[in-house]
Parts: sequence; structure tokens; C-alpha cells
Amino acid sequence: MEFSSHNRLEILRQAASQTNDIIVIGGGITGAGIALDAAARGLKVLLVEKNDFASGTSSRSTKLIHGGLRYLKQLDFKLVREVGKERAIAHRNAPHLVIPAKMLLPLIKGGSLKKNSARVALWVYEKLAGVKKEEGFRILTKQETLANEPLLNEELLSGSALYTEYRTDDARLTIEILKTAVALGARAVNYTEATGFIKDNGKITGINILEKLSEECFAMKAKVVINAAGPWVDELRGFDEIPTGKRLHLTKGVHIVVPFSSLALSQAVYMDAPDGRMIFAIPRDGVTYIGTTDTDYNGNKDLPLVNKEEAEYLVEAVNRIFPKSLLKISDIISSWAGLRPLIHEDGKAPSELSRKDELFFSKNGLISIAGGKLTGYRKMAERAVDKAAEILRKDFSMTIPLSNSASITLSGGNFSSISEIGEYVENQTGESKQIEATFAEIRSLVWKYGRNTEHIIGRGFDLWPELEDRNNILEKAEIRYCQEHEMAVFPSDFWIRRSSQLYFTPINLAAQFEKLAPFFYLYGDLTGEAARASEYSFLREVNNTMSFRG
Ligand code: FAD
Repeated sequence: MEFSSHNRLEILRQAASQTNDIIVIGGGITGAGIALDAAARGLKVLLVEKNDFASGTSSRSTKLIHGGLRYLKQLDFKLVREVGKERAIAHRNAPHLVIPAKMLLPLIKGGSLKKNSARVALWVYEKLAGVKKEEGFRILTKQETLANEPLLNEELLSGSALYTEYRTDDARLTIEILKTAVALGARAVNYTEATGFIKDNGKITGINILEKLSEECFAMKAKVVINAAGPWVDELRGFDEIPTGKRLHLTKGVHIVVPFSSLALSQAVYMDAPDGRMIFAIPRDGVTYIGTTDTDYNGNKDLPLVNKEEAEYLVEAVNRIFPKSLLKISDIISSWAGLRPLIHEDGKAPSELSRKDELFFSKNGLISIAGGKLTGYRKMAERAVDKAAEILRKDFSMTIPLSNSASITLSGGNFSSISEIGEYVENQTGESKQIEATFAEIRSLVWKYGRNTEHIIGRGFDLWPELEDRNNILEKAEIRYCQEHEMAVFPSDFWIRRSSQLYFTPINLAAQFEKLAPFFYLYGDLTGEAARASEYSFLREVNNTMSFRG
């Protein structure tokens, strides 16, 4: 129950009764990775997140664990090599969440790559990134490409390159990293905001926090504080001192979602947009999602939304490459927008800014980290904890081992191959016949929760005799599992960031929510006014996915 929504205050009280070795501010993938790396080194860690885990950029990405092909264009060979290695580690440690998928790169007239340059680029990239032989690229002729992807624009097309990328679910990956950190002794609490730093003789010795549900404040002691607040990193740096030197540069990226039938692709496609940028179209779970954009952002960091111009840009780009799809704005069924916390470089356009991560140190001892990608989260975390370890060794005479996160299997990820995941789906379907679970339901759970699916099925067996209404029994079991083992407090936590339904199965979601909300509240901690407010806020988030309609 260390990661239960019912125990949040108790966890904070325990953390307040001791001096934590490291406090991490921010529960996106960067903060989660840091908590895991530090807990695995035997450190006492507390992570606080002001909203839900992964509610910032880490649920709003393109959801790819990139091999770093784009860094080749910038001739950053070291980064290509590092990212390739990290991708392999991410897949090994969570094969149910970091999954190889074919990506087609159409070669078109006036496009960014020609056949020979694509061949050379992919060859160099695969050598540097250490891509497995069986995942190597192929160059396809125009006819082969059209046979593979018949919706492509025949007039523009000269051929294509087919290579391997890895897809993920960013929010679920963040949650699984956190669950693994918690299992190793870390404490992590959502809806808990860092409101200021505690200092002694100018040095940071802790943080003040506000637990938002109870409005209780705590003073938390820490030997080291790491600021991993993503787009809010500079805001936190400002609580410590006036930030000098490098600063953040936020850029917005949006995605739109259409039914699979509106853009029925055989595989993911990485294509040229008319302005020379590259965008993705990725089929998944009955929909195809398309993105992204890259524009400067100075608006409300808590509420980035997709506007009409951005939706039109993506629809036009798709219609140029796939004219037969005749995609329309009215086809869009969901969308999301995210903010890249990049490092500012004078005179550079948004898409030219480096995606490298950067550490910042204040004279008062605050370590801040920003930039980077989902893909490199583990290495970023290692660098941040290495820095914290230097301080802990020097100022507190502690003995801290080196990072071992590369060999830690993430919660639910204990599979040796993709085929073993398939066998597990079959087995669990057999095991859950008595609660009338279907193969499709079990398969969907396994690709989200991995081996923890059996705990959800176990909840289903517990509920079976208890419930009069046994419809949606598995989703009810999933809700309970997420409340007890993934700290889902509000409906949005479950329907958006634990089960990804808002983006990928948005049709009838409001009706499904209405049916299951009473169950959610029955087992959750929200009552009366708080429950009503959370319902309203969830429905507002559902509406926000159609913000481009104005
Ligand atoms: P966040 O996820 O934003 O986490 C920071 C957290 O800090 C937030 O949850 C916030 O609520 C919390 N916080 C802020 N202030 C406080 C406070 N005072 N107290 C407590 N908590 C606080 N990368 C890839 O590898 N592959 C991709 O396909 C990819 N696609 C992308 C597409 C888009 C459109 C964007 C925007 C990014 C993409 N990225 C991708 C990059 C990747 O998503 C980000 O680098 C990563 O998610 C950043 O994670 P983070 O933890 O640093 O920030």
C-alpha cells in the first residue's frame, strides 16, 4: 500500500519525520527516473508532484522511444550512440511498454531525403545506435511502397525507407518507473506542491510543501533537493535565487487523433510537412494520431491546448502525403498539446534548439535538470543523482554506490521476449474465464500493466461476489488497482494517465465515465463537493481535447 491513494498523508508524515537524502520536485519521467536511480542506490528519497504524476509533458509527447535519427542531421554522433543504447535498455527493462514498431519514411520529390542519402543516413544511424540486425532498415521501391501503404501520394512518391522505431505510452512508463522506485523504498506523493525552499545559512536544507487535498503544509528536510519540474524548472529556480546563465525556452507541440478508418495506415509513417519539418502519423488501438508542431510558447503552462491553426496544419500535411484520405478537421476525435522544456539558445528557431538535457547548480545547493527526451530519462537521472552523490559524499560523508538502473526491470516488465508477452495474454485469458473477461480485454491490460495484470484480475475475482452489477468488471478491477497501487486520486488520473482512454478511446468516454464514476467514488477518497468538482474537472478535460473548434 506504499503507493495507494488512501495513504498519501501517512506517506508525507513519515517523510516529514526524518531527513530525506534527496527530495525530487516533479513527477514527470525525469523526476520518476531520478527517484528510481536514487532509491536503487539505497538513498532515502521523497518525490512530490503538484498535480498528477505525468500530468505535464510526460503524458503529452509523441510516445516514441526514439533511436535518435534526427540527431544525425545535427551531426551529434555521441548523442545518437547514447540514445540508441538507452532505447535498447528501455525495451529490455519494460518490453510491454517499449515496443518495436515499423516506421515508413516516404521519399518524395522535394523532400528532406533522397534514396541514396536515406540509405547512407540510416546505415550510419544504425551502426552508431547499435540497432539489432533483424531490425535493420530496407529501402523500398515506389511500387513496393505503394503496395505497403496504398494511401500514399503516387505523384510525389519515389520510394521509401522502412526502419524500426519503438513506441510507448509515456504516462504509463512514468508510473511504472515510479512504482519500481517505490518498491525500492522511495516515497512519492501526487497533488503535493513545493511552495518554497528552507535554508540554513543560505544553503537549502529542505522544502515547504502543500498537500492540496487536505491543504496541510509540511516542512520537509533534505540533504539535497533536485528540481525536475520540466516546464516549471525556471519557476522553481526563481524560488531559490534570481536565475542567471542558461534558461528554459518552451515550445509547444500538438497531436490530433482521428479514427483509424479516416487514416488507415499499415504502419507508422514519418513524413515531410510542406514547411520542411517532419511529422508522424501513428496507428494505434483503433485510431491514428498525428503530430507534432514546434512553436514558441508563452501561455499558461498548466493548460496548453491545440488551436485551429495547428489542427489545420497537421490535416493539410496529411492530405498532401495521403491525398486519398481526404482528412477533415471534423474527423478529429481527440487531441493533446505538450510543452518541451528546452534550453534557450540565442537566435535559434524552436525546431533548431538542442534536445540535450542540462544540469544547473545554484550557489545554495539546488540541482535543477531540464531538456532531454523520454528516451534518455534513465541517463539523465543517473547524471542528476551522480551530482547529488558528490554532495552527499563530500558534505555528509556518505558512501554512495554507482547507478545500477540499467539492470532494473520495471514493475510489470518481467518478460524475456515479446512472444512471452503473447503467451502470458493467452494464460491470463484462461485464468479469468470465471469472471467472463475476454481475450481483447486481457490483451489491452497486459500491454499497459504487464505482469501486474494478474493483480487486476485478482481484484476482479474479489469483486465478482461483492457486486450486483458485474458489467465492466475488469475496468472496475482496474480502477481499484490504480487507486490502491498507482495513487489514482481523481477520475482524470485513471481515465487519462493510467488507462490512456481519453486520447485513444475517446468515443463514448463521457457515457462510460457516467456509468463507472459511482464505482470510482465508492472506493476512492473523494466525497461531496470534492467529488462533484473532480467530475466537472474531468468533463472539462474531455472538452479541452476539442479546443481547436474554438
Ligand atoms: P514534465 O513531464 O513536465 O514533469 C514535470 C513535473 O513537475 C510536472 O508534472 C509538474 O506538474 C511538476 N511540477 C512543476 N512545479 C512543481 C512544484 N512546484 N511542485 C511539485 N511538482 C511540480 N521525447 C521522446 O523521447 N519521444 C517522443 O516521442 C517525444 N515527443 C514529444 C512530443 C512533444 C509534443 C513534446 C512536448 C515532447 C516530446 N518529447 C519526446 C520530450 C519528452 O516528452 C519530455 O522531454 C519529457 O516528458 C519531459 O519530462 P519532465 O519530467 O522533465 O517534465
